[in-house]
Order: sequence, then C-alpha cells, then structure tokens
Amino acid sequence: MVRQLKNYVGGRWVEATTDKYTSVINPATCETLAECPDSPAADVDAAVKAAQEGYREWRSTPVLSRAQYMYRYKALVEDRFEDFVRLVVEENGKTRDEARGEVRRGIESIDYGMSVPTLMRGYKVEDISSGIDETAERQPIGVFAAITPFNFPMMVPLWFLPTAIVCGNTFVLKPSPQTPLSAELLYEVLDELDLPEGVVNLVQGGKESSVAVMEHPGIAGVSFVGSSPVAKIVYETCAKHGKRVQAQGGAKNFIVVMPDADLGASVANIMGSAYGCAGQRCLAGSVVVAVGDAYEPLRDELVKRASTLRVGSGLDETTQMGTVISASAKERIEKMIQQGINEGAKPVLDGRGTQIDGYENGTFVGPTILDGVTPDMTVAKDEIFGPVLSIMHARDFDEAVEMTNSSRYGNAASIFTSSGKNAREFKYRVDAGNIGVNIGVAAATASFPFGGKKESFYGDLHGQGPDAIEFYTDRKVIIERWL
Ligand code: NAD
Repeated sequence: MVRQLKNYVGGRWVEATTDKYTSVINPATCETLAECPDSPAADVDAAVKAAQEGYREWRSTPVLSRAQYMYRYKALVEDRFEDFVRLVVEENGKTRDEARGEVRRGIESIDYGMSVPTLMRGYKVEDISSGIDETAERQPIGVFAAITPFNFPMMVPLWFLPTAIVCGNTFVLKPSPQTPLSAELLYEVLDELDLPEGVVNLVQGGKESSVAVMEHPGIAGVSFVGSSPVAKIVYETCAKHGKRVQAQGGAKNFIVVMPDADLGASVANIMGSAYGCAGQRCLAGSVVVAVGDAYEPLRDELVKRASTLRVGSGLDETTQMGTVISASAKERIEKMIQQGINEGAKPVLDGRGTQIDGYENGTFVGPTILDGVTPDMTVAKDEIFGPVLSIMHARDFDEAVEMTNSSRYGNAASIFTSSGKNAREFKYRVDAGNIGVNIGVAAATASFPFGGKKESFYGDLHGQGPDAIEFYTDRKVIIERWL
C-alpha cells in the first residue's frame, strides 16, 4: 500500500476530505513514493480557521519567544539534514550535493526568521507639534499563505514560513503536489516544537487547493513561487480578493561573455548555471550571448565540458546531473529542443533520448547545447526549464545588452568580463532583478530580497530580506498627547 499524505491543521495530522489523489513519483525510477491528496476548499477553510484561532494567542506571544521557536527549529532541522537531502533527491531528482545546497539555503532562511526581533522595529518622532509625539509601530496582520513550486521543495517554503510567523502571523502552506514530501518533513519537525495550535498549517494539493487559498477571505496575504502564467493568475486573483501578494514567476536568464573574460572560469560557472539541478532553477543560465571573438572558443569549450557530465540517479554520489521532474517535463523539453532545430538552431550537443543503465524508467534529459540561436526563436524566448543551453552571437557589448533586454522575463542576468566598465554598464542597463558579475547563479542570500522584474515577478515587495518584513507587517501610526 502506498502511503496517503495528510494535512496538518491546528497542530494535528488530519486526512484530506477527498478521494482524489495524485501519485508522487521518484523521477529517477518512476517508483510511486506516496499519494498526495487534492485537498478541496473545505480543507483549506479548516486550515485557515485554525490559523485564525491560533493568531489570537500567537500575536501577543512575545516576539523573543516567537523567535526562540526558530532557534529550536533550526537545531532539529540540522539533526534531520540528511533525511531532507534524501527526500529532496527522491522526490525531485536532483543530485545529493544540489540537495545539500538547497537544505543549507533553507536553514539560512530559518536564521533570518530568528533575526525578526531586531528587524520589525517601528520609528518615532517626538514633538511633531507641541507636546505631541508620533510613532509608527509594526504589527503582524493575520493569516498568510504560501503556494510553492516543485523545484526547491524544502527551501522555498522556508523563504516564507519563519519570517511570517516570527513577525506574529500564522501560516498555511500549500506545496507542489509533485514534491510534497519535503514539506511534510518540515511540518513533522515543526510538530516537535509544540507551537501553539494553528500557528502553522499544511494543506496538500494542486490547483483546486490554490484557488481556495487565493479566494479565502480569512487569508491576508499570499506568497507565490512558480511559473509566470500561474504567477499572473495568483497576483490578479489575490488582488481581486483584497490580499497582499508577492508572486515570483519563471525566467529566461541570459549570460553575456565578453572577449576579455577568463574563459576557463566562465565556462565552469556557466556549466553550473545551465546544468545544475538539470536546468530546473529559476536562476538557471539559459542563453549564452558570446560577444565578438569570445564566440568560437567559448562554444567549443562548453560542448567539451558539457559532454563529459555524468548523468544519473541523484542518490549516486558520483552523479553530476540528475533527472528532470517528470515524464511530461521530459517530453516538453525534448519537443522544445526539436522546435529550436526546426527554427534553425544547430544541436551541437543533443541530450534527447538519454538512457541510464539501471534506471531505464528514469526521466533523464542529457545536457544539450543549441548553437546559432537568434532572439526570434522560441528557445530564445520561452522558459525551457531543463538542461538546454542556447548560444547566441553578438557583435559587441551594446548588442548583447539589447539581446538580454529583449526577453520578456527579468529574473536574472550575468556578465563574464575582466572590465569594470563593462560590468558597471551591465548592472546599470540590464533589466533583471538579480545580476551576476562573473557569477553564474546570482542567488540572493536570505537577508537580501530575491529580485525579479517584468514577467518574472508580479507584486512590489519581494520574498526574503527586508522586503519580507515589510510584507508580513503593517505600520500603525499613533499620535499621542498626554495632558
Ligand atoms: P507551477 O506554476 O506549475 O506551480 C507552482 C505552484 O502553483 C504549485 O504549488 C502548483 O500546485 C500551483 N498551481 C499550478 N497551477 C495553478 C493554477 N492554475 N492556479 C493556482 N495554482 C496553481 O510551477 P512549477 O512547475 O511547480 O515550478 C517551476 C516554475 O517555478 C518555473 O517556471 C520556475 O522558473 C519557477 N520558479 C521561480 C522562482 C522565483 O523565485 N522566481 C523560484 C523557483 C521556481
């Protein structure tokens, strides 16, 4: 019997009130790991009611005590570090090292939550008029929810939960039904903290549960991470229902390589950026723009290095690139490669049809490089979210910036150069929310906001960093005169 996952509501594990379940598949083996319920609106409602009940006590629990829970949480998550790693590998398909990186980043967001007592300060001005003082206090708002994607199933929920609750809010998580097991373990560990009932709640499910979250009048704000079309829906629906919303979407990240760049270091970084997590990162480098004479040596070196990557099961420590998330993702990625070829791109490395001994059912796509890509091609415009790197050739720096800015996405962009002037111009002119200078994956750490512009982000306050404190609190202004 495959285990059916439960929801966590008001401090208890409860069965979802549905008989609709989705199989959670290990993409390296196609083995079914669990069955994830498609929780209906009634289950979301129960979680929100529990969170509303919990809010009364939690809001007046001293902020230092709220933070203390996160100190204990961090210690317990550290104790289970390798359990999280195994789950992330099994349900997502990434390598162990990539999963370790994810879990470490997740823990850094717990650290950030611990620092909320020093961050949620207000401000005051005395004598705004004779004998009158004015103060802005930061207060929690109520129930917040997060809807999260499959690609960082342990880390992304932690971008939100610790900061939201230490600010004094209560919380409902709706993770991806493709990777619900890491979230379940996050909640098993939360359960050990003996938090007051209703502070943290988990509802497993897909679109139906998301819609119930977006429309629920008891939820004050929603953090979303996922693809751009869904981010737009979430932004619009939450706004229509009077909620705060931050919706982080998909990406098409350009990497510009100047002729003055260090070729070896650039290639090593681009490899990690394009093929890390099998290209399933919103910060993955997807298009390399080689400028002038950089083009030929860069292309040759990329092909040489990418063709030696060891593809396989993430559980094998020697694997350098794991699977994509599902059979349908593999099919979609392979179709996009074919479309690139049909539109004129040259497959100088073709990862379609990759088979791994012992993992014949695994959903592997090998590293792929398409050369001769131009800005009008679908592979240059649309998010592929797989291990496919497109190479474009630009005459000069200005044309490279123009190509980069032609994208409708604006998540990240990088430049490889030894010129400070080029780097400065790139940072200044490129319309993306995360910029790397000689860095392939410009991933904001927990105390900085995770940038994103154009179709990569809908909202104004980003996830993480000071933006998160703003998002999870409201300022109340008090004007006082004592007679
Ligand atoms: P997705 O948009 O398919 O799903 C994300 C979440 O939304 C899941 O919980 C899913 O159940 C829910 N959902 C799906 N369809 C919905 C709908 N119509 N209405 C409401 N909710 C819905 O994304 P995914 O495939 O899980 O994740 C990959 C995507 O996430 C990529 O596009 C990637 O670039 C993006 N991503 C962005 C960031 C970022 O910070 N900008 C980080 C990680 C991933």
